[in-house]
Amino acid sequence: MTSRKTPRIHSKQTISAFENAKRQFDVAARLLGLTENQIAMIKEPRRVTKVSLPVQMDDGRIEIFVGYRVQHNIARGPAKGGIRYSPMVTEDEVKALAFWMTYKCAVLDIPLGGGKGGIVCDPNKLSRGELERLSRRYFAEMHDLFGPDRDVPAPDVNTSSQVMAWMMDTYCMHENNYIPAVITGKPLEIGGSKGREQATAQGMVFCVLQAAKHLNMKLKGATVAIQGYGNAGSNAALLLEKEGCKIVAISDEFGAFYDKNGIDAKHAIDYRKANAGKLSGYDKVSSAKPIEDPMKLLELDVDILIPAAIENQITEENAENIKAKLIAECANGPITPEGDIILDKKNVFVIPDILCNAGGVTVSYFEWVQNRMGYYWSEEKVLEELKRYMDKAFENVLRVSLERKVNMRIAAFMVAIDRVRTATEWRGLYH
Ligand code: NAD
Repeated sequence: MTSRKTPRIHSKQTISAFENAKRQFDVAARLLGLTENQIAMIKEPRRVTKVSLPVQMDDGRIEIFVGYRVQHNIARGPAKGGIRYSPMVTEDEVKALAFWMTYKCAVLDIPLGGGKGGIVCDPNKLSRGELERLSRRYFAEMHDLFGPDRDVPAPDVNTSSQVMAWMMDTYCMHENNYIPAVITGKPLEIGGSKGREQATAQGMVFCVLQAAKHLNMKLKGATVAIQGYGNAGSNAALLLEKEGCKIVAISDEFGAFYDKNGIDAKHAIDYRKANAGKLSGYDKVSSAKPIEDPMKLLELDVDILIPAAIENQITEENAENIKAKLIAECANGPITPEGDIILDKKNVFVIPDILCNAGGVTVSYFEWVQNRMGYYWSEEKVLEELKRYMDKAFENVLRVSLERKVNMRIAAFMVAIDRVRTATEWRGLYH
């Protein structure tokens, strides 16, 4: 049991996220009747780049960081995907995340491929200057890979609009030109899109609304547990509260908290902000109680469970204990294939990551479009377009799921794989 003094949450890093991603793919590819050649063309990443990044630290030392960029598939458009800063970043993880981006863009039918990047670092231990130098060095080192028609990164875990701004500036310096479309998730003042901040959570809420309709579930009064209280998780809490849901549990890597009467989403956000980005100690300023073993948040008796942190959280070890009827995957890859099988048997309705959290990349796509037009949309227009894309994707996936009698994850992969395969065939890339 995790003690209250050491509430850091463990993650199942021994499980290969990329192997799991490929196993999800295999089931759908088999059902679509893909040949070995077709599978070979669209399953493995096209380009994996690893760089050493020397950075001068504030004390004068040079520290070498490792950075990755993976371009998984570019058949339907330039590679698209975020850059993650974490001590846990591995090549395997970045490959899995790039893979999911390919199929995420395809499910949403946006004209982009899949990519992802990461730097092995603990941003909490870096000063602002060190963070800026590291971010600029990463972009300079990878300069040739990036470009509005090549590969367009975005924020991910622990990277912010400020990091995107530094990266864009680095690219513009090298090109001696103003090219905001090289990266998305930028501040509004330098070409960001309205609505980007809450886009992932908003897209998830559009999916939850559709799923609730399909399941005849009332959202008013529905109880929700959220693992991860960063961009995706905290905005999910705010938006679901607006839909009448009761957020009874939240967590981050520093602690987990439960209140059967409901946690005020905004209060928790403000607390986290004032507490150096950590939820630890939230029980001291609210009526919430700490959950001794933060992993137990996933097993609470709630209507809706939202994993919004990292991969491999629901596995064969805990899936049997899950009580939620609906799981909306805000995080990428939070459920392992073994976990999926158990949840299927329990009839839990899972909105899969490649559909559920695609609101972020969809608004990133809108940002890229606006940058290239040099004409900017109102927030209403962004939300209206996001709803149109998400609803259409959800309806498509649900239809395939019902027609082919497969779960939503396999159905989403079937829709997506078919689009990537078709694009690949049109381009004649088999030769
Ligand atoms: P973030 O860095 O803003 O927040 C991550 C949160 O998860 C933090 O609260 C962190 O403390 C917490 N966390 C980390 N490890 C944890 C653990 N083991 N247990 C509990 N909490 C833990 O990141 P984010 O942008 O909110 O992304 C969260 C997830 O959503 C990631 O899987 C990311 O790939 C996915 N996602 C995010 C976006 C987006 O637009 N932000 C889009 C698509 C997918």
